Amino acid sequence: MRIERSPENSKFMANVPLAPYTTIGVGGQARCLARVSSTTEIISAMQWAEEHKLPVFILGGGSNVVFSDRGYPGMVLLPTLRGVVMKHSGSQLLFSVGAGEVWDAFVLYSVRSKLGGLECLSGIPGTVGAAPVQNIGAYGHDVASVIHTVRVIDRTTMKIEDHDAEWCEFSYRSSRFKREPDRYIITNVTFALHPNQAPQITYTDLQDWFDERPQLGPPTLDTVRQAVLDVRISKGMVYDENNVYSHGCGSFFVNPTLSGDDFKRVIEGAKNLSNPVEEDRIPAHPAGDGVVKVSAAWLIEAAGFKRGTRYESTNIGLNPYHALAIINYGGGAARQIVEFMTEIQDAVKKQFGVDLTPEPSFIGFKENAKEK
Ligand SMILES: Cc1cc2nc3c(=O)[nH]c(=O)nc-3n(C[C@H](O)[C@H](O)[C@H](O)COP(=O)(O)OP(=O)(O)OC[C@H]3O[C@@H](n4cnc5c(N)ncnc54)[C@H](O)[C@@H]3O)c2cc1C
Repeated sequence: MRIERSPENSKFMANVPLAPYTTIGVGGQARCLARVSSTTEIISAMQWAEEHKLPVFILGGGSNVVFSDRGYPGMVLLPTLRGVVMKHSGSQLLFSVGAGEVWDAFVLYSVRSKLGGLECLSGIPGTVGAAPVQNIGAYGHDVASVIHTVRVIDRTTMKIEDHDAEWCEFSYRSSRFKREPDRYIITNVTFALHPNQAPQITYTDLQDWFDERPQLGPPTLDTVRQAVLDVRISKGMVYDENNVYSHGCGSFFVNPTLSGDDFKRVIEGAKNLSNPVEEDRIPAHPAGDGVVKVSAAWLIEAAGFKRGTRYESTNIGLNPYHALAIINYGGGAARQIVEFMTEIQDAVKKQFGVDLTPEPSFIGFKENAKEK
């Protein structure tokens, strides 16, 4: 079930080109790369890196990482821990899953086993170990809602610890792991799933899919998975080597959550567009505590970056079906991705006063990815 994109299979490799380990396909070489399949191997690889004074970056399936063109001057550690262990706990079933398992393979397994909770997260690339990092989510569902515990190695003590979901401090596309990126190595994630739980559909795209297929009857876990995959594939949101539109990091920016005053700035910006947009036409919804979540895709398009826009004459550009996805049409460079990202951020800031936060991790750049 493990993502394999490297032609070689040895555990330690020196001077490894990183682009093939990512879905956006950019980046120079890592000084070395180590595949580690147990906590013991992780700990000894970390000790080896410390002895050699090498920084360490933890890599999963590479679907949310942009490596710099210079590469990474340290050790890239690839946890490949496998296995799924099930146990009963009241009305729910607990599944402890190795960090190196492929996320979507586990989702498929849960759907086939008639276990509800993950079906809307079908088709997201990457590993189980990375899922808690940005609290992956899609179609109104976040993985945090089914995470029971996470097993980690704390890099400051090298101790193995188990933590519950509250400790993980999950929030929209974030967690303790995202906020402290060099602190924890996730080795296992335990999910609480419910037998025969009815799927819940909250997204128009999915409801439309069912409305067009009345013969299917009420949504089941299987048909929801199919609906999600169909909708995602139509936008290049399922990674496929042969589909260039999927060669990115999914959504490149998170949807901004704005205070009332900041949202007023967006309303002003919308009125000042060459084709003015009224407040009730701005895709936004209340997100509690007086804040409003605004569609980043809408801000980007309204600021002048239509779907499919290329960055200058490069092979970096927006996905033609999804304005939020920056993709590499082939042969693009990390530097161009950062320049394009900055151009988009500057335009959105100028028009709407909003700072767009990128979703992927930028690795091997100077402190600020914008410094080349
Ligand atoms: C086509 C496409 C569609 C996507 N759609 C979605 C979507 O709908 N929703 C969504 O939320 N995301 C989406 N993504 C983003 C991405 O797939 C997820 O964030 C995914 O969880 C990343 O998994 P990965 O294994 O590839 O992690 P990587 O990209 O390898 O790493 C991501 C981050 O997690 C850290 N990390 C990875 N493994 C571990 C570990 N074991 N311990 C500690 N830290 C670790 C890394 O250091 C890095 O900071 C999409 C990406 C693509 C390319």
